[in-house]
Amino acid sequence: MSTTPAQPSAQVCEFPGCDRPLTYAGTGRRPKYCNQPTDPDRPAEWPANPVHNKFNAKRLRDAPPPQDAETVHALADRIEALEQALADRDREFAQLSAQVARLRAHVDQDQESPR
Ligand SMILES: [Zn+2]
Repeated sequence: MSTTPAQPSAQVCEFPGCDRPLTYAGTGRRPKYCNQPTDPDRPAEWPANPVHNKFNAKRLRDAPPPQDAETVHALADRIEALEQALADRDREFAQLSAQVARLRAHVDQDQESPR
């Protein structure tokens, strides 16, 4: 008969980067989080000093990974290039629309004049 490995008796907080020991009252569900902010000497604040609980652990896991300054700079350059391309496209569209309007007026004038 096989047994699953026993949980370590000294459980620690499951919040990423926290290893505070958890106290268990002996009844009910065992706690998974210490419910303390990362820095207990400062006020709890998301995301700088989150309280270690299930909700904030999920928020942290779901948050996009931090990007380095080079990546942010490259993304900003790309956005700027896309905005410029969009502005160029808008200008071309306005020019084409004006040409179409002139051609349409010319065609309408030809159709109205007697041959
Ligand atoms: Zn913790």
